[in-house]
Amino acid sequence: MPSLNLEGMDPLALYKIPFTGLKTGNHEFQIDVDQEFFTHFPESEIEDAVGVVNVLLEYSELNMVLHLNMNLSWKVPCGRCLEELKYDLQRVERIAVQFGEETEIGDDLWTLGKNEFELDLAQTILEMAHLARPTNQVHENESDCDPEMLSFFRTDSEEKSEKNIDPRWDALKNL
Ligand SMILES: [Zn+2]
Repeated sequence: MPSLNLEGMDPLALYKIPFTGLKTGNHEFQIDVDQEFFTHFPESEIEDAVGVVNVLLEYSELNMVLHLNMNLSWKVPCGRCLEELKYDLQRVERIAVQFGEETEIGDDLWTLGKNEFELDLAQTILEMAHLARPTNQVHENESDCDPEMLSFFRTDSEEKSEKNIDPRWDALKNL
């Protein structure tokens, strides 16, 4: 494979699949999601996640179907004690792609205008990763949390609660 690390190259080029010239039939791709990927999206709530997205593309000149299978490993600080937690971000998506006058990207149906020649999966991968997150990013049991950090936050919260009561800390105390 030629080096793709050319200066001025689109940093998200590796998350695009060019489809012109493909033969009718199934094509498999593997997209490596690297440490840098999420830094390209300032709005991302995920910073440190790496892994792969396996792509199966059913291609024909009339339409396509994309099957995406995501498997990332995400490191995030516990919401209670800040100790690093690791979650698997797993998700499967199916996207139907058709051709039309103008490009219109929906959730599971994309219409591509005549000038399109590649499938840009960056935004989709970003969204899939966010949808795959667990609801709460904390140690399952508070007893698994780092006790020193917990007591540090507690003391801190008690001092604060005398002046102004932050409901978030109250919620934590009741856990
Ligand atoms: Zn914790």
